[in-house]
Order: sequence, then C-alpha cells, then structure tokens
Amino acid sequence: MNEIDRRTLLRGAVLGAVAGTALGAAGLAGAAPMRRAPAAVRDADVIVVGGGMSGLAAAKALRSAGRRVLVLEARERAGGRVHNVSTLGGVSVDGGAEFLGPTQDRIAALATEYGVTTLPTYNQGESVFWIEDVAHRVPAAVPLPVLPGTAETAAALAEIDLTAVGFPVGEPWRHRDAAYLDSITWQDWIDSHARTYEGRLFLALAESAPLSVRPHELSALFMMNYFASAGNERNPGSFERLLSVEGGAQERFFDGGAALVPLRMAATMDEAMVYGAAVRSISQLPGGALEVASARGTFTADKVIVAMSPAISDRIDYRPGLPADRTELCRGYTMGRIAKFLAIYDRPFWRDNGLSGQVIGDGTPIDVTYESYGGGHAVLMGFISADAMAALDPVPDQDFVDRCLDSFVRYFGPEARTRLVDHGFKKWDDDPWSWGGPTATTRPGILTRFGPSLREPVGGIHWAGTETADFWQGYMDGAIRSGERAAAEILVV
Ligand SMILES: Cc1cc2nc3c(=O)[nH]c(=O)nc-3n(C[C@H](O)[C@H](O)[C@H](O)COP(=O)(O)OP(=O)(O)OC[C@H]3O[C@@H](n4cnc5c(N)ncnc54)[C@H](O)[C@@H]3O)c2cc1C
Repeated sequence: MNEIDRRTLLRGAVLGAVAGTALGAAGLAGAAPMRRAPAAVRDADVIVVGGGMSGLAAAKALRSAGRRVLVLEARERAGGRVHNVSTLGGVSVDGGAEFLGPTQDRIAALATEYGVTTLPTYNQGESVFWIEDVAHRVPAAVPLPVLPGTAETAAALAEIDLTAVGFPVGEPWRHRDAAYLDSITWQDWIDSHARTYEGRLFLALAESAPLSVRPHELSALFMMNYFASAGNERNPGSFERLLSVEGGAQERFFDGGAALVPLRMAATMDEAMVYGAAVRSISQLPGGALEVASARGTFTADKVIVAMSPAISDRIDYRPGLPADRTELCRGYTMGRIAKFLAIYDRPFWRDNGLSGQVIGDGTPIDVTYESYGGGHAVLMGFISADAMAALDPVPDQDFVDRCLDSFVRYFGPEARTRLVDHGFKKWDDDPWSWGGPTATTRPGILTRFGPSLREPVGGIHWAGTETADFWQGYMDGAIRSGERAAAEILVV
C-alpha cells in the first residue's frame, strides 16, 4: 500500500468514526462524499491540536454545540501535563498536576461531572522552613515563621494583594505600571521590597514553588499577573491563595489521581480523539480551509485550535508563517524545569513526629514537599525545580533517586530512608511534548511588546493552553478556561 492509499484509509477510518457519518463511510469506500462537493469537504469543522486539559475542554464545548471535532494528540494518551505515573512497585501516583483549591471552579465542576472525588491535603502538625540548614517548625496553618524578615514580607504581600485588586488579569500589558514592571525581574522587585535574607527568601517562594524558575529569570509583570490570576471573577487573586494549602491552591487532591479527569473526558469523545498524531504543520489554504499535517495523516477543517503552551506551539510549522509578534511572543516563553519525586513508606512516620509533611526546603535538590497519596499508601512528594532540576537533568536515574532521598533524610530524618518501601518519579524537562513544567513564563520585555498576540487568532487558527488563561493561568483550571474561551471565539463567528 502506498502512502496515498494509507492516508485515504486512515482518513476514511477517522471520518467514519466521527459520529459514524455517511461522510466517513464514503471516504473509506473511496466514493464521493454525500453531503458536499469533494473540494468543499472538510474532515472536521474544528481540529484541536493537543489533548491536554485545554484541548479537551475546547473539544467538549464545541461538540456540545454540535460541531464536528477532531483532537490530534501527539502522545498515545490524553491529559498532557496531567498524568499519573507508576512507582517501581506499581502504585499509581500523580506525576504532574495534583492539587486544586477554592475559586478553581472549572476543574472542580469537571471533576464532579466525571465522578472524580477530591480529598483534603493533610495540613496538621507542623511544617518546616529549612533556612540555612536550620529547621524552623511552624504550625501548618501558619503561613510563615516569625523571623527578622517576616514583617517586611507581610508588608510586601499586602502590596501584592492590593495590586491584584482591579488588575487586568490575563492582559497584564494593560496595567498602568506595565512598562515599569516589565522592565524589571521579580528579583529586582524583591530586592526593592525586602532587605533581610529571610524576607527575600519568603518572597522568592512565590515563583520557585508554583513556577519552577528563579526570581532573576522572570518579569515582575508576569509575576504580578500570576498573583492576580489566583482567583476568579468574584474574588481577586492573592499571594496566600496561590501558595496555601487550606484556602489555597493546594487544598485538595483527586482520589485516584488528577489524570482521571482528562482520561474520562477523552473516553466520552473517543471517536474524536486521534492519538500518536504529532502535528508537524498547519497550512491556511486559499478559500479558508486549514490543512493540518500530522504523524497520523493530513486533515482539513474550517478552524484549528492550537491547545498547548506558547513555548511549544512554535515547534509547529505554520504556512504562511505567523505574524512576527506571535513568533517573538512564543520565543519569549520558556517552560520551567521540574520533576516530582514520590517516596512510599510503610507508615506516615512524619505524622508521628508532629510534622505535616510540608517543607519549604533549600533546593538541594528538593525544594518543596507535601504529603501525597497513592492507593491508600503513605507518600511524601517532593518537587525538584529550576536550576536544581537543570543540574540533575543529565544525571542517571539511580543517582537522581539517591539525591532526592538525601533531601528527604535531611528534612524528615533517617526514617525517610529506612522506612522506604517504594518510590517513583516523573521528570518533565526531557518529555518531548511538554519540555518542562509546570508552566511557561516570560522574562522582562516580552509581555509589553508582544503580549497582545497571546490570544489573537491568526486567520482560522485560535490559541488555547493554560498560559493563555485569565484566571488560574498555569493551572488545570486556567487550561479549561482557555479551551472554553477558544471554543467560544469560534462559536460566535
Ligand atoms: C509537575 C507538575 C505539577 C503540576 N501541579 C499542578 C497542580 O497541582 N494543580 C494544577 O492545577 N496544575 C498543576 N500543574 C499544571 C497543569 O498540569 C497545567 O496547567 C495543565 O495541565 C496544562 O494543560 P494544557 O492543555 O494547557 O497543556 P498540556 O497539558 O501541555 O497539553 C498540551 C497537549 O498538546 C500535546 N502536543 C504538544 N505538541 C503537539 C503537537 N505538535 N501535535 C499534537 N499534540 C501536541 C501534548 O502532548 C499535550 O497533551 C502541574 C504541572 C506539572 C508538570
């Protein structure tokens, strides 16, 4: 069978699957399509490129409105950065997104719709701030230890929260101080608001934990938008909601893993999902159709939604090329560098020692930990972030595991090694369809110059992905919002 025959067969099979239409059957038999002249026939009304939370949310909304949709997903699974991995012993744990919290209404609604229940994150006992090799224990409900830098941190947090009120969320380039804030790094902002070592450390937590970059790598405007984004239409974002467990983004987790949500969503639209379909190019054809070339064949549609990070979307070849501002914008976004390490224990020994399992560490290599879950097991989860992760990217897996366990032993004592029964990890930096995580960020000078291109459609191409969200940008909730927004753009036309 030659390539053309294979493509015809594949297209027929996919078309036949799309709602079982006569159109698909005609494609398989090689006969003329029944409803429209061949030149006008599209494989779908809308092709969604990427089957992560944003792409699935877009596809769901479009299908509900009666549109024929194909989702072309490069991997052999749905979910993107929401992914369960197995430990060595076969326990399923969250390798990517894990938590949800108040004002994350969209992910909460989908979890309910697809029958995925949530459980509270363990937040009792004491948490540890590990500062210059000294463990400062504070009750888990207290956000910061009382140290010389606490007062100036509190003043800076008050300023951040004030800035978040009325902030043009999702369009930070419209803020009255945008030019200034986008001319400095988050480190510059910290330095101008905190003089003590502890104050600077506490403020730097804001980006190391949720973004996996260091403060000098990040525009202060990006960071302010991120704080403002940690809310919804009725509740302005805040530092505390972004970083807290109780009342914050880490408040709850999904029983069975966050990935149950995208996997169940994808299962309900199975006939629209095409896996292993890495998209190589998107061409705008004369007459308005778009042609999408993928590893599973070439498909046409009236519209395309590219549902992924802007840091990834410019790996696709666009014909004609995208406007220069859109290209510059994509080049200005960089994925964070991140891995998760999960250690399974015979019992939650940290609880016996009065600890919550939450540590703000020193990043050698684990910088933040939480008690996690996995099929009823006692689990400690640690993030390896930013330059600490970059340093470990080339290290063999066993060395990586040993270094992570060293961190746990320092934070939780020798039982972190002696009581270990199983472990797992997920490195995201070399994962070809994510290239890092949890999200992409910008350095100074990108948002004010090229920001308006973030969501601006180019011909028939629309943009989704959590990075394009207004509220909860960088989170599952933001991904869903972005997908629904991109679908709405198409539905109003
Ligand atoms: C370690 C980690 C921890 C996190 N923790 C949390 C958390 O606790 N809570 C939370 O809310 N969020 C968390 N996040 C962030 C959350 O996972 C993301 O915000 C969200 O999943 C992004 O969804 P998306 O659809 O925008 O992008 P993605 O999930 O990246 O989806 C993009 C999809 O496009 C596909 N793709 C890429 N290129 C192509 C191509 N050329 N052709 C076809 N398909 C392609 C990819 O395979 C992928 O499936 C975490 C992320 C990570 C990595």
